[in-house]
Amino acid sequence: MSEELVSHEPATGAELWRGRTSDVDAEVAAARAAWLGWAARPFAYRAETLRRFVDRVKAEAEGFADLIARETGKPLWEARTEVESVCNKVDISVTAYSERTPNRRIEGAMGLRNAVRHKPHGALAVLGPYNFPAHLPNGHIVPALLAGNSVLFKPSEKTPATGAKLVDLFHSAGVPEEVLRLIVGGPDTGKALAAHDGLDGLLFTGSARTGIALNRQFAARPDRILALEMGGNNPIVVWDTADIRTAAILVVQSAFLSAGQRCTNARRLIVKQAMAEPLIEEVRTLSGRLIVDHPHAEPAPYMGPVIDNEAADGLTESFLILMSNGGQVIRHMTRPVEGRPFLTPGIIDVTAMPERPDIELFGPLLQVVRVESFEAAIAEANNTAFGLSAALIGGTPQLYDQFWANARAGVINWNRPTNGASSAAPFGGIGLSGNHRPSAFYAADYCAYPVASSESDALRASIGVGLHDDEGPKLVRKGFI
Ligand code: NAD
Repeated sequence: MSEELVSHEPATGAELWRGRTSDVDAEVAAARAAWLGWAARPFAYRAETLRRFVDRVKAEAEGFADLIARETGKPLWEARTEVESVCNKVDISVTAYSERTPNRRIEGAMGLRNAVRHKPHGALAVLGPYNFPAHLPNGHIVPALLAGNSVLFKPSEKTPATGAKLVDLFHSAGVPEEVLRLIVGGPDTGKALAAHDGLDGLLFTGSARTGIALNRQFAARPDRILALEMGGNNPIVVWDTADIRTAAILVVQSAFLSAGQRCTNARRLIVKQAMAEPLIEEVRTLSGRLIVDHPHAEPAPYMGPVIDNEAADGLTESFLILMSNGGQVIRHMTRPVEGRPFLTPGIIDVTAMPERPDIELFGPLLQVVRVESFEAAIAEANNTAFGLSAALIGGTPQLYDQFWANARAGVINWNRPTNGASSAAPFGGIGLSGNHRPSAFYAADYCAYPVASSESDALRASIGVGLHDDEGPKLVRKGFI
């Protein structure tokens, strides 16, 4: 018998949504049966259907943003930007589909032609994270549907209401119900879905822990596409700038936007020793001014709560562990509302720590490392198994060239926050941040596969060499017998 999944608002603890966990077998069967029909539709039909989806989202934008804000705890202004990203995804994906997977026809002699066309994989699972519960899965769902796949979308168990609403909006725009299925459930449901024989691939956004488990699970299935978008332990390097104030703003945005719950948030501030004191003081002061409050509060907060008490407990505990291992506190991470997962920004200097943990601390926690040389800064930036985003603040064009050439990450920015990434560009990381299948503009690459065809309108063939002539074998005439 299926169980119930319940979603609560992090800011208040109020129940927001409940629903039955899905029957994975039945859902996969439905999606499998549907994809060929969807794929047989002209591309223009699928694109138009998804454009109607945009109209539906725009018509319900405020309610949708309100739901995202309630379910994730992120400020309403930020939830509104997420809804905008959902809308923008369709046109970007239509362009990406035609640029990344264009059909080509190469004319040959005598009516012969070679063609390259793309076909969908079939039934694809999309597993989403909680931090962008609409925008990130949508970034896989839209290109997958455009290419002609059917999709089994399992939102995070922490944000099922947003997932359910997203699927409703697609259905109300005319995406057939069998073509896009909502899968309700937690990690066990995700595991069962990933292991299902009826699946042709899986597009994942989430933690490295889950991504590695999926990679292992898919190791014996090279016939299936697997795209992994995972976390990071992202560095922001501040070097030689007189504009300490702006540098501090960029650091604070990088570290604390979305309460530190973006995969691209800076986790490590690496700063030149000579400018460490004024910069750290500015970052400390500014981060102390950030408003941490309910998503709908006035004045608008910069940060809401993190997703739940378990996450908040884990982060405060990590802060204490860093402290007890030699970290020097710059700003304490506190829990201002008893019983709810609000956190104030925590900043800790870990320069003197002999061994720093290379893990993603997914919340408002910034570690500071002071270094003497630019080479040491780059070495420190690369001192991680992840490789999602990295930024240099300050420096010269020459230093940025050096940083760009040596920093190992899929997003490398200069004088911009670590979390500034355009959805019209590919988005992904190296190391434990992904499996070389970048998303955003390049998602089209793994939603369809190319088929090379050699074609002729009429049957035309000849064997030019190596044939006996019509009279039979020539062995006698050539004197062999
Ligand atoms: P998560 O890995 O816990 O969960 C992601 C999804 O996988 C959920 O739907 C979950 O139910 C499912 N899942 C969990 N265990 C599973 C298993 N063993 N088998 C199959 N499915 C399983 O991630 P999260 O905590 O929801 O999201 C936060 C993480 O996502 C952070 O690490 C963050 O960096 C990462 N993230 C990455 C990107 C990116 O684009 N690179 C973007 C956003 C978030």
